[in-house]
Amino acid sequence: MTVSALEFTQELSTNPKSASERATILANPGFGDYFTDHTAVIDWKAAEGGDAQWQNARIEPYGPISIDPAAGVLHYGQEIFEGLKVYRHADGSVVSFRPEANAARLNLSARRLALPELPEELFLESIRRLVALDQDWIPDGDGAALYLRPFMIATEAFLGVRPAREVSYRVIASPAGNYFGGELKPVSIWLSSKYARAGRGGTGEAKCGGNYAASLIAQMEGEANGCKQVLFLDEFNDNAVEELGGMNVFFVFADGRLVTPALSGTILHGITRSSVLQLGRDRGMDVQERKITLDEWRDGVASGEITEVFACGTAAVITPVGQLKSETEVIGSEDAKPGEVTMSIREQLLGIQTGTVEDTHGWLTRLV
Ligand SMILES: *Cc1c(COP(=O)(O)O)cnc(C)c1O
Repeated sequence: MTVSALEFTQELSTNPKSASERATILANPGFGDYFTDHTAVIDWKAAEGGDAQWQNARIEPYGPISIDPAAGVLHYGQEIFEGLKVYRHADGSVVSFRPEANAARLNLSARRLALPELPEELFLESIRRLVALDQDWIPDGDGAALYLRPFMIATEAFLGVRPAREVSYRVIASPAGNYFGGELKPVSIWLSSKYARAGRGGTGEAKCGGNYAASLIAQMEGEANGCKQVLFLDEFNDNAVEELGGMNVFFVFADGRLVTPALSGTILHGITRSSVLQLGRDRGMDVQERKITLDEWRDGVASGEITEVFACGTAAVITPVGQLKSETEVIGSEDAKPGEVTMSIREQLLGIQTGTVEDTHGWLTRLV
């Protein structure tokens, strides 16, 4: 590493949003629709005659970026990203939730996509600088936060097929309200029988744009069938449940078991997932990471053994799942209410994040 965390330069926006424009946006931020006034950037390229290095760490005004039409990201999809949230607590401090875990996962994704790893201190410093500058963009209100989107793209202009020798890492920030909008109702999810988002040896456990591109057609199919999210199975492994397009999935059993699919290489290592596992253990639940099949889901709901299903991820935190629908069947009932355990874990997790419940695991990192 050649850039020390302290060597960021800073160029301020000459036309930031006015306080009143910002207030209008923050009153109703939605998800991913608006962006703050600045962005953090670090480049990776060869120094004169030497190996490629991270360099030119900076804060810039938010705006369109210029990229060569031959840049690798535009042709071969060499791209990875992260997602994490920042909250303002009642004492005025600004915190984020387990950002070191995001830094570590970015590097897991980087290794898989043949991108350079970013030193954790540079990741943390990039978000600290951006958030310090744009902290007036943190919305308040139930479940609201500033969502950070760090990402890394291959910028080298070269059409041959090999890992790019020039790369750019950036962070943008977007005020976020409730992900699915409105009150928290159980969502229906669509079981995709035709499409997969990941396969053995593929990029399923990397957080990369390509996985999302692969899931969109299934998402469209789900929406056409009245569902907000899509569930993917491993059809070569007894229809084992994997995850949703962008969220991990959990099952609550009547006897106190809390079950989620084991990380098999095709499932994203969700930070919310790992936090929920810990909160389940803290409650004395019988927490299991294991294979759970579609048959077990169907039979468990029918027998009453499985009482609740929920999905989890940073953007939507914890979302109760009502029904699973497919071409051939419906599991669960239409008028399902959010489950008790689901809502209790959701409140606890949100409480830790927003500072109303004690952070006994040291998950919060103060940024400002
Ligand atoms: C980001 C993501 C998740 C959730 O991960 P968190 O760290 O909890 O936000 C789950 N599945 C996929 C495919 C994802 O991209």
